[in-house]
Amino acid sequence: MTAIFVVNSGSSSVKYQLIDVESGEVALKGTIDRIGDGGPADHTVALAGVLEQLAGHEVAAVGHRVVHGGSQFASATVITPDVEAAIEGLSALAPLHNPANLLGIRAARAALPSVPHVAVFDTAFHQTMLPAAYLYAIPVDLAEQYGVRRYGFHGTSHKYVSERAADFLGRPLESLKTIVLHLGNGASMTAIDGGRSVDTSMGLTPLEGLVMGTRSGDLDPAVLVHLHREAGMSMDELDDLLNKRSGLLGLTGNGDMRDVQIAASEGDAAAITALAVWRHRMRHYLGAYIALLGGVDVIVFTAGVGENSALLRRRSLAGLEFLGIEIDDDRNELESRAERRISPDGAAVEVLVIPTNEELEIARQALQLIGT
Ligand code: ADP
Repeated sequence: MTAIFVVNSGSSSVKYQLIDVESGEVALKGTIDRIGDGGPADHTVALAGVLEQLAGHEVAAVGHRVVHGGSQFASATVITPDVEAAIEGLSALAPLHNPANLLGIRAARAALPSVPHVAVFDTAFHQTMLPAAYLYAIPVDLAEQYGVRRYGFHGTSHKYVSERAADFLGRPLESLKTIVLHLGNGASMTAIDGGRSVDTSMGLTPLEGLVMGTRSGDLDPAVLVHLHREAGMSMDELDDLLNKRSGLLGLTGNGDMRDVQIAASEGDAAAITALAVWRHRMRHYLGAYIALLGGVDVIVFTAGVGENSALLRRRSLAGLEFLGIEIDDDRNELESRAERRISPDGAAVEVLVIPTNEELEIARQALQLIGT
């Protein structure tokens, strides 16, 4: 029996899937919303309802998505009281996520005490980065004391799609220089050398890097000081500004890429500018990662925007033929949910669209760890 119950517990919602890893079949799937806000009273009540549905299914293990694993967790880990304490200890680095992940872990462990529970961390895949990539140039003692460094996120997705890409191409992962563009509401890029993450655009938190739905991505850190001094904004206000009111939302008033794309096509000046800023930032990382890797064999698009927007894929890579990067327009525009190549046959760089599946990856890692 290889069914793994995957739990992604957020502050007010729990997403779950029961996945048979061997067949990839999803036996159960759902989301419980508005926990503590009109829906179930708390995570324990929310999961109790779901666990009733599990009756009659044999569950080999539970895989939990955990956002921040700090420097402690470089791979999936069986959850013990010590691991729970470590996840709690990392809450300062992910105050919105880790406590919510823990609520789900505690409720599920209490309800399913006889099966192993496994934590799969968004940060783990990026623990292979070297100091050159993960250190910020601030005093080292301060950085160490407060855990200030690049960790990177979306690791489960970056790992999954880069491995699927190698499989799709029938080439050994170890031989490939891959750049993954995970472009969703949250967006990040990763440079992967032979299966190892060597750099990624998100940092201490998921705020750094690309222009996102509501997050600013990169900016001069002095912007915070300036707005604090000149606009009288508090740290909480700045946190809210950069995480929830910036990005596409800040530039256009709408944080949804599909809407921004439609507005731009109708000639809306703010939307056109926002797409230009989005593209400029993305290409900035693309160029950096090609330099860092010493070339690129595979570029992979994934997540909401990456999987669905032919226009933004084309614009992202336009004019890069001198690097061997080309897109075949017919392949790119074909609507499909399948893994696919969108570069022409024989192009120097393979450009692929690989739908991400973080739940399946969590299930796989959990199963691998418990060794069934
Ligand atoms: P999350 O980070 O919340 O998991 P998703 O990966 O689901 O996000 O991506 C959501 C984003 O993808 C939204 O900005 C949405 O507008 C965008 N998106 C989905 N389909 C399209 C499309 N056809 N064209 C452009 N953007 C799209």
